[in-house]
Amino acid sequence: MVTCQSRPLSDLVIKPTWVSDEPRPELPTADHKAQLVEVEELGLQICRFRFQLEGEAVYRAGQYAILELAPKLRRCYSMSDLPGSPVVELIAKRYEGRPGSEQLFRLPVGSSINMELPYGDMWLREGLRPVVLIAGGTGVSPILALVRQLVESGDQRPVRVFYGATTQDQLVCWDELASLVDRLPSGRLHGALLTGGDSWVGTTGLVTDALTPYLEAMADSDIYLAGPPPMVNAVRVLLREHSVQFDRIHYDSFG
Ligand SMILES: Cc1cc2nc3c(=O)[nH]c(=O)nc-3n(C[C@H](O)[C@H](O)[C@H](O)COP(=O)(O)OP(=O)(O)OC[C@H]3O[C@@H](n4cnc5c(N)ncnc54)[C@H](O)[C@@H]3O)c2cc1C
Repeated sequence: MVTCQSRPLSDLVIKPTWVSDEPRPELPTADHKAQLVEVEELGLQICRFRFQLEGEAVYRAGQYAILELAPKLRRCYSMSDLPGSPVVELIAKRYEGRPGSEQLFRLPVGSSINMELPYGDMWLREGLRPVVLIAGGTGVSPILALVRQLVESGDQRPVRVFYGATTQDQLVCWDELASLVDRLPSGRLHGALLTGGDSWVGTTGLVTDALTPYLEAMADSDIYLAGPPPMVNAVRVLLREHSVQFDRIHYDSFG
């Protein structure tokens, strides 16, 4: 459920994820005209879209934009690159017959749409705790941005990255992620494929299977998590069972 676009039909319980007397370190959201300048095919029904804005895109790595793909058709997509340039990169999957992603994949190069950014709370917190980044499917998009930030800022914290997909051709940007993780002073990358081939050396199974051996050590980490709702929910349950504090888990659920 996209809560920011939902209308409640009955009473509901609201659970705030931020309660503090301090002002929230938000960046103001801005409206942009965004021109699609490049579409790069990355894997099975997954592409990287590059949009050119009229000025610099101001956001934090890990945040997302809302794209107005057609009148009343608004969908969220996370930036995969670092801020500070007028080009915004998004990685998206095509779901056949579903309105938002179909419309995004049908946009002709050269066409323009409205784009609002930034939104979201999944930006990197400072501190000394180890960092754990967990991506499922196109959840790799904000996780790539966070890894880029850790590399570019010379961050010294230990970092573990977990990335799961169904098949090898959906494990997009694996090599890109691996070479970034290699540049971290203390970085490890773990992959999980539901259907791994003979050449696959990572975990065969779900991303939760890849996490299992490391769960005990995670109670002390800051954790960032992005992907489809079943994966995000399963990981959150596991983390809670292993005493990771609620306020150390930052996530975007893509449904
Ligand atoms: C924070 C966030 C970040 C995301 N980042 C990415 C990303 O980087 N890459 C990526 O591929 N996907 C991402 N997504 C998912 C993306 O926004 C779309 O949900 C996805 O592309 C499927 O959209 P769809 O319209 O094709 O499918 P649908 O299943 O038709 O719609 C997707 C969601 O929108 C809801 N919805 C459908 N119609 C309406 C409507 N008229 N009004 C309001 N809500 C409606 C549905 O209930 C469903 O939850 C992200 C989602 C969120 C919430």
